[in-house]
Amino acid sequence: PGTPPAYRRVLLKISGEALMGPQGYGLHPPTVARVASQVQAVHALGVEVCMVIGGGNIFRGLQGSAQGMERTTADYMGMLATVMNALAMQASLEGLGVHTRVISAIPMDQICEPYIRRRAVRHLEKKRVCIFAAGTGNPYFTTDTAAVLRASEMACEAIFKGTKVDGVYDTDPVGNPNAKRYETVTYDDVLQQNLKVMDASAIALARDNRLPIIVFSLDDADGLDGILAGRGRFTRVQV
Ligand code: UDP
Repeated sequence: PGTPPAYRRVLLKISGEALMGPQGYGLHPPTVARVASQVQAVHALGVEVCMVIGGGNIFRGLQGSAQGMERTTADYMGMLATVMNALAMQASLEGLGVHTRVISAIPMDQICEPYIRRRAVRHLEKKRVCIFAAGTGNPYFTTDTAAVLRASEMACEAIFKGTKVDGVYDTDPVGNPNAKRYETVTYDDVLQQNLKVMDASAIALARDNRLPIIVFSLDDADGLDGILAGRGRFTRVQV
């Protein structure tokens, strides 16, 4: 019954901050639960879902290195932060009856699975939500790049980047009523105008793999399932 979902397999990228709710730091369980229920709704439509979650609510490599820590060490701490967020999301999804796997780019066998591409694909085929943790496993990268990398490896049709704003604007929309939201924007525009979507390495990788990025608000009334169906407000980054 009903129309089939517009996507077969997608990746949802959210920042760590998206899980901290009204707090200034860390994890806010009701906020985690809200995101989880949006994922549950999409998963219930039969869409295969990958997730990448940032770590900025706990630790960022650049913060650490600004305080004198070696950048690589600080980045590893950032990657560990993403594992904590992934475990919180897993717990919340499993509480809703959604089967999940946390898959880490850095093996930590007692906690989650190591990343093995073919195994992850198999999980998706079995309708398990795959939460990819520890970014790319390499310092000097971001979880945005990890999201584009994993989405490409998993042959996702698009990345949905959930943020606090409902798309990509020509200027910062916060406190600026004249900021104009784009319906679509090209990868090259994002790079040349330095629009705040993802960092340049992530955008370039998405462009090279022709992977569309849909930027939307996690607070959109239509929810992630509505955004997937083309309702609500969002910006599509494409060729
Ligand atoms: N990180 C890294 N390599 C990766 C992904 C992440 O070194 O492939 C580190 C980096 O220090 C980063 C931190 O993990 O600051 C948290 O990730 P990110 O800043 O992307 O989180 P978000 O801003 O999405 O919350």
